[in-house]
Amino acid sequence: MATAKDPVCGMEVDPRKAAGRMEYQGKPYYFCSQECLKQFKGGPKKYVK
Ligand SMILES: [Zn+2]
Repeated sequence: MATAKDPVCGMEVDPRKAAGRMEYQGKPYYFCSQECLKQFKGGPKKYVK
């Protein structure tokens, strides 16, 4: 798998080039921008089921 999905905006992100990364409930999440990472940090439950 080359890409991961940005849970905030739904964009496909290359983990090696991701602008942000965060582990949540034992899983890594990747983000296209710091902005999306910030959104996720503000309320991960909104984006992860
Ligand atoms: Zn994004």
